[in-house]
Amino acid sequence: MRKPIIAGNWKMHYTVDEAVKVARELKELVKDAEADVVICAPYIQLPALVEELKGTNVKVGAQNMHFEEKGAFTGEIAPAMLTDLGVEYVIIGHSERRQYFNETDETVNMKLKTAYRHGLKPILCVGESLEERENGTTKDVIENQINKAFFEVSPEDAKETVIAYEPIWAIGTGKTATSEQANETIGQIREMVGNLYGAGIAAAVRIQYGGSVKPSTIKEQMGMSDIDGALVGGASLLADDFSKIVKF
Ligand code: PEP
Repeated sequence: MRKPIIAGNWKMHYTVDEAVKVARELKELVKDAEADVVICAPYIQLPALVEELKGTNVKVGAQNMHFEEKGAFTGEIAPAMLTDLGVEYVIIGHSERRQYFNETDETVNMKLKTAYRHGLKPILCVGESLEERENGTTKDVIENQINKAFFEVSPEDAKETVIAYEPIWAIGTGKTATSEQANETIGQIREMVGNLYGAGIAAAVRIQYGGSVKPSTIKEQMGMSDIDGALVGGASLLADDFSKIVKF
C-alpha cells in the first residue's frame, strides 16, 4: 500500500510572518491526518517554518534548488543550505520553472541526482501543455520527461521520488483534469517507471496529481486507483482549505 502524500506549493506568496501564521493554524488542523503532509515554501520562509512545524507531522520543502554544491551562482540556493535548515523535500522541474526560468530535462536530471546525494526527497513535476494534450502527444511528452529525469538514477533513488503529474493547462486555471484523465496518465507514468525499473518499483512509487485541486475535487481524485496524492497550489494557501484536502 502506498501512503498518500499531499503537498502544498505556496509559490511566491506570503511574508515570513504570514507564512508562520498559516503554518500554526495548519498544524493543528492536520495533526491526525493519515497522509504525509508537506508545505513547499519560498526560501526565505523556510527557517521559520521548520521551527514552527518542528515535532509535527507537517514537513517542509523548498520549491527549487541548484544542482551544484556551491559556487558563483548569484541568487541561487545550494542543497546543503536546505538540509542544514531541516528541509526534507524539494520540488524539481515545476512547469513554472520550466516555462519562466529555463529549467530543462537535463537540469531536472542533475537536480534530482544532487537531491538524492543530500538526502532531500524530490517531488518531480511532469506534464503536458494544452496543445500537446489536444494533438494527442501527452504520453510521448511525459515519457520523454520521465526518461530524461531518471537518466542514470538508481532504482533505490527512483523509488523514493514522488512524481507529480501536473497538466500545465490545469495549473492555476481552475480547469481540473477529470479524475479519469488524471488516473489514466498517472497509470501510464507508472508503466514508464516500470519499464525503467521493474514492476516492484513502479508499484511502490508515489504519484500525485496537481492542477487546480480543491477541497471539492480531492475525494474523487483520491478514490482513483493510481493517484497517490496531490500537489496543490492556490488551495494550499489557506489552512482551512488545505486541511480539508489533506484529510480528504
Ligand atoms: C501547482 O502549483 O503545482 C499547482 C498545481 O497549482 P494550482 O493548484 O493552483 O493549480
